[in-house]
Amino acid sequence: METTNPESSAQKQTNAKVVKVHKCPICGKLTDSVQYRPFCSKRCADIDLGIWFNGGYVIEGKAQTDEEESE
Ligand SMILES: [Zn+2]
Repeated sequence: METTNPESSAQKQTNAKVVKVHKCPICGKLTDSVQYRPFCSKRCADIDLGIWFNGGYVIEGKAQTDEEESE
């Protein structure tokens, strides 16, 4: 009888790397993304950017034709 250990042949390669997990400020999801830190993805980074743009900064010079303001 031969017993094969699949675990012994498959070495854990992620053992050496320490993954830092942080919380995305936009969606609150735990993520280990480093590319879009502190966000989890480009989408959340874009969302944050959108909030920032809409909240405190207005781009002028964009094609703003007759836009009626209605309340
Ligand atoms: Zn997110």
